[in-house]
Amino acid sequence: MAKYRKYITKGILESLHKVPGHSKAPIRRTLMLGKSQIPESKIHLAVHEVNATRKKIPPYTTLHSHNVDEIDLIIPQGGKLVYQIQLEDETYKITAPCTVFIPKKLRHKANVVSGKGIFVCMIMSNKYKTF
Ligand SMILES: [Zn+2]
Repeated sequence: MAKYRKYITKGILESLHKVPGHSKAPIRRTLMLGKSQIPESKIHLAVHEVNATRKKIPPYTTLHSHNVDEIDLIIPQGGKLVYQIQLEDETYKITAPCTVFIPKKLRHKANVVSGKGIFVCMIMSNKYKTF
């Protein structure tokens, strides 16, 4: 019995600044699917709860790349959520809901500008590298 219980895993709260390419910010990060939770999964998945409605959040990510593709889902909650996305030398201001597909090796960063919502980061390997 309960042989599939291992496929249900609890989120792990993590400090943003422990993630390569990120610095300390008032953003709640929950690792939802990492190699410590379900080793056989090939996807790394983390959720970030952002709220910049009352206070501006200074930039917290720096330009970085991975050895695998990344997909970011940016989902607003109760209003407008704006992000600044940089892909190599191009910067875009986007309004959520929005999906950003980041091919492997493409340097990128994402910082909230204003609003409230959820930023889901999916990386297509649980053994990925950051450069
Ligand atoms: Zn990344």
